[in-house]
Amino acid sequence: MSQATDRRVPLLTQECTAAEALEAVGSSWHGLSAEDANERLVAHGRNELVRPRQASVVRRFLAQFTDLFAVMLIVAAGITSVAYLLSDPPDIGSLQLAIAILAVVLLNAVIGFMQEYMAERTAEALQAMVPHRARVIRDGERAEVPAAELVPGDLVVVEAGDAVSADCRVVEAHELTVNNMALTGESAPVRRDADPVAASIARLEARDLVWMGTTVTAGTGKAVVVATGRNTEFGRIYQLTAGAATDVSPLRRQVALMARRVAAAAFALGVLLFAVRLLAGGSLVETFVLALGVMVALVPEGLPATMSVALAIGVRRMAKRHALIKKLLAVETLGSTTVICTDKTGTLTKAEMTVQVIWTDGRVRRVSGAGYEPKGEVEDPDSVRELLRVAALCCDARLLPPAGRQGWRVLGDTTEGALLVVAAKAGLDVQAEQQNAARVGELPFDSARKLMTTLHTTDGRTWAHVKGAPQELLARCTHIRDAAGISTLDDQKRRAVLAANDEMAGSALRVLAVAVREVGSARADHDEAEHGLTLLGLVGMLDPPRPEVVAAVQACREAGIRIVMTTGDYALTAEAIARKVGIIPRGAVPRTITGVELDQTDDATLHTALVENPYLLFARVKPEHKMRVVSAFKDLGEIVAVTGDGANDAPALKRADIGVAMGESGTDVAREASVMVLLDDSFASIAAAVELGRSVYQNIRKFLIYLFSHNIGELMPILAATAVGFPLVPLSAVQVLAIDLGSDVLPALALGTEPPEPGVMKTPPRDPRKPLFSIDLVRRMLFLGSIQAVVVTAVFFWHISKAGIPFDAFTSDNPVYREALTMTQAGIVVCQFFNGFAVRSDRLSVFRIGLLSNRPLLAAQAIGLAIMCAISYLPPLQAVFNTAPLSVADWGLLFALGSLVLVADEIRKAVHRRKEVLT
Ligand code: ATP
Repeated sequence: MSQATDRRVPLLTQECTAAEALEAVGSSWHGLSAEDANERLVAHGRNELVRPRQASVVRRFLAQFTDLFAVMLIVAAGITSVAYLLSDPPDIGSLQLAIAILAVVLLNAVIGFMQEYMAERTAEALQAMVPHRARVIRDGERAEVPAAELVPGDLVVVEAGDAVSADCRVVEAHELTVNNMALTGESAPVRRDADPVAASIARLEARDLVWMGTTVTAGTGKAVVVATGRNTEFGRIYQLTAGAATDVSPLRRQVALMARRVAAAAFALGVLLFAVRLLAGGSLVETFVLALGVMVALVPEGLPATMSVALAIGVRRMAKRHALIKKLLAVETLGSTTVICTDKTGTLTKAEMTVQVIWTDGRVRRVSGAGYEPKGEVEDPDSVRELLRVAALCCDARLLPPAGRQGWRVLGDTTEGALLVVAAKAGLDVQAEQQNAARVGELPFDSARKLMTTLHTTDGRTWAHVKGAPQELLARCTHIRDAAGISTLDDQKRRAVLAANDEMAGSALRVLAVAVREVGSARADHDEAEHGLTLLGLVGMLDPPRPEVVAAVQACREAGIRIVMTTGDYALTAEAIARKVGIIPRGAVPRTITGVELDQTDDATLHTALVENPYLLFARVKPEHKMRVVSAFKDLGEIVAVTGDGANDAPALKRADIGVAMGESGTDVAREASVMVLLDDSFASIAAAVELGRSVYQNIRKFLIYLFSHNIGELMPILAATAVGFPLVPLSAVQVLAIDLGSDVLPALALGTEPPEPGVMKTPPRDPRKPLFSIDLVRRMLFLGSIQAVVVTAVFFWHISKAGIPFDAFTSDNPVYREALTMTQAGIVVCQFFNGFAVRSDRLSVFRIGLLSNRPLLAAQAIGLAIMCAISYLPPLQAVFNTAPLSVADWGLLFALGSLVLVADEIRKAVHRRKEVLT
């Protein structure tokens, strides 16, 4: 076994044939046995790249202290400590404040570190969920294994769209080309084949080698693994270069920018207040402490953490609904998607193909049975057996009998699976036929040609078996075979074939044509093998729509999202399916544009067509057409999500705002190029992700309003005190910190977990150019914040006035002052309690959403109140915060006044809703 690695270098550099290469790694054309593969897995380890060690934990933790907020707070703590040292008698309050601020810095650093760590783990976990499989031949049978379980000696089967999962020596190739960009930086595809290569050729140039990390762009082939994991060329480079790439989304950037601006404003205001109060004769230390209070009150300490958590929750919820988000950016963009360009097969439909009709000899034969179980009847089987034999031999898929709880399954293309099933139903033994007519060559399927050809020899003669899209294949046929034998395919017969095709397609069937011809040798190329063919007939297969798609399409329509089908399939089939799932409503007349028409259309005409036709379908399109459609929509200012599964879809997936790849059926290349992967391939999952994307954005707005509006409540009493010449602070910096990082953080986090609001999919998509801090957001913040500010300022001064002594007579240990101080803090906490309910929706009454429906919020609010009670009643905390116990009457007053926040907002919402109804 270990010979595999020992011989790696000579194998890669020395001239050897495919057979010698197989032998050198102890493998054969039958691949390894399962047992041997297991032993090799133990010996060589998993085929994975272990992340190189990143910056040490300590360094990453220390980096948290270099953040702007942290630096500001550390400087503030430094100055406060100096104030303490200079004060005589020693001002214990300054020391407490310095310690409190440092505690805040530490707490923030811990939260920041945890959050980075969690985000990384989430990204890794999501990455691990993206399916990564390899097709191998083991014990002579094709099988699929996780790419991480490949071992040296494994015989892998590759085809267009696959990522190469290990370093391999090619042993068989059919028009195989690969893109070595990941290793060489050269993006042009290069040809690979199984012929021996001179030892002098540079390894990366060697035509017989394919490397881990590169992709197959076209063709098919077999290759034997020579190195896995860290022993691969890619693994070596990865160890040298890989690092963690952080992804800062625009929304996070906007929030960070806003937070910085607010911090700058806070600083300026603090300095101004400091100067004003100092000039008015305030003591240095007290004035400084007050100014610091203002700064700390305004800086949104908990914001970055809350923001990351909300996004992470969004990503997790989407993963639960089968949509894996690879980039956080997508969470935000999803919410403003205006157009979804979707494939048909597998996304709107189940991709569970069942042949229902066969057309040959001018007549339709019905087939009974459902699914992949080869049980059912073919009408007049003798008349279709040759057609089905030719079709079945032209397939790469395998039919797998029931195993465990799974029923009959198809390994490979389901279209081909259906052909194997119907062949069995007609009484053919496909395996025996495969042995009788050995496959000696192939021209793989590609979605541009829409054809696939295999070459077979029997009795010394070689035949090309061709299957593919009827129109494409018909154009290459010169003859037709019917009961009377082979005859020329004249115009009349051609029309008959096309009519039969349209009839089947019109009833939503996917149609494939089948043809043959004799060729000169197994080396026949496209020109020889795919021309002058004899048509044998048509096969129509049913691919039922996914049941959940109808509701998802409806939801997207209500959400103002346009759905445009872009399919490789035939126009009539596409239209029939589009009607079934509701993309084209009853009575509506669609406009279908085919790939050929698209080639003849200039950009301006295409733009007009997109704008003027609400029900557009693109049929028989190639991947490059999809790219054009996506670009055209983007030119029109739309936010486009596009689905893709093939290797050639990668450019369109990259060009779109949201590239959506398929987890089950898609290729590795498509998954690589996309930002979202659908684990179940279903369109309904895109709709679900859009809904969650919208709700994440709403939730971020909610806690922004929640967090910023209370800043006004914290600031106002301080400004008022300065204005009326009250010598002490109505709310100390330590108290502000206790609110911002104690009672406020959890409710803000809980607001980030709100489920999507009812009606979130009933409004048009958000304009992505509209800034997060829009006018209406600021207006709402001011509205809720002002009520808080008035309430809090009122309770403070009302309490102070109860003492009946002049302002100048107050000292910081005055019991009334201590009570008033407690009232201010409790006032903010109680106002925020009601604010938490108010911000849960911009338009809907909280009683409609359900007062108790966000449990985490209720718990968080309860904790917030509990913290406040502790600060008011526990003597050690009273000492730190200079607070006093509040009476039941005090609480009663606070709740009565605090509820005004909710009441006023409910009235505002009611007025707003009324206006909406009237307009
Ligand atoms: P969508 O783009 O919506 O997924 P699709 O699966 O029909 O639709 P393609 O895979 O590009 O798109 O296939 C285009 C056409 O090629 C099909 O309509 C069919 O006629 C033909 N075709 C599909 N698979 C095969 C195959 N394995 N062999 C031969 N022809 C095929």
